[in-house]
Amino acid sequence: ISAGEFTVDASKMKVSRNDIAVEIIGMHKWYNDFNVLKDINLKVMRGERIVICGPSGSGKSTMIRCINRLEEHQKGSIVVDGIELTSDLANDRRRIYEVRREVGMVFQHFNLFPHLTILQNCTLAPISTRKMPRKAAEELAMHFLERVRIPEQAHKYPGQLSGGQQQRVAIARALCMKPRVMLFDEPTSALDPEMVKEVLETMVGLAEEGMTMLCVTHEMGFARKVANRVIFMDKGQIVEQNTPDEFFDNPQNERTKIFLSQII
Ligand code: ADP
Ligand code: MG
Repeated sequence: ISAGEFTVDASKMKVSRNDIAVEIIGMHKWYNDFNVLKDINLKVMRGERIVICGPSGSGKSTMIRCINRLEEHQKGSIVVDGIELTSDLANDRRRIYEVRREVGMVFQHFNLFPHLTILQNCTLAPISTRKMPRKAAEELAMHFLERVRIPEQAHKYPGQLSGGQQQRVAIARALCMKPRVMLFDEPTSALDPEMVKEVLETMVGLAEEGMTMLCVTHEMGFARKVANRVIFMDKGQIVEQNTPDEFFDNPQNERTKIFLSQII
């Protein structure tokens, strides 16, 4: 099946169509009294590959989880592919679903459904959310399982696969929804070292095909090779952002310097 055969008529549901994939303006989030994200401003153009790094607890996961509304922000706005997520969306589930359809997410711990086969993991959302016929969904799933180079695992269960294979399934599963943006939250940090490479290679392939990507990762080799922009977060704020070369070779902020000296 050609990837282009399955397209969504998004024009009907979009406020506007342009080259901005994600725009976050003056966004704050609190967990009770704790101001976990403070005045986040970030514009992501289509095709950008952004690496987000920073100390543990700095708000990286929370920020990317706000982009597909796994977390709710309380102030400011987030616009994903022309769809605005405001802080008072409680009664607008439809808009949240629209955003989730456009945004693929890959987690540290894969989050595959253990009781479903690899193929079923990949076809579930296209069938239930996209209303794809089963056969077409299965063909699409096989297309992406081939792309992540594990088509032969299609009828196994997640527990029968290695961590690296499971993470590649998770990437294929996200791709089956034809997302316009992919979010990765430390996709390799739960993997044994020998499996990190195969997952990073899959991500490099996606980047080469022009996918818009936001990746929380401390894989600095990947950041240098793939990112067009590196963002450093600390204490709930974006403290510094730059091209990878400038970011690594000439960090400006004291906190960035300390962070880099610890991880490189
Ligand atoms: P990072 O991904 O950079 O390690 P997180 O976004 O996971 O950081 O967390 C940022 C801060 O928010 C941390 O102090 C964390 O303890 C806190 N936090 C995360 N999730 C919750 C939650 N559900 N409730 C309360 N505090 C949370
Ligand atoms: Mg995190």
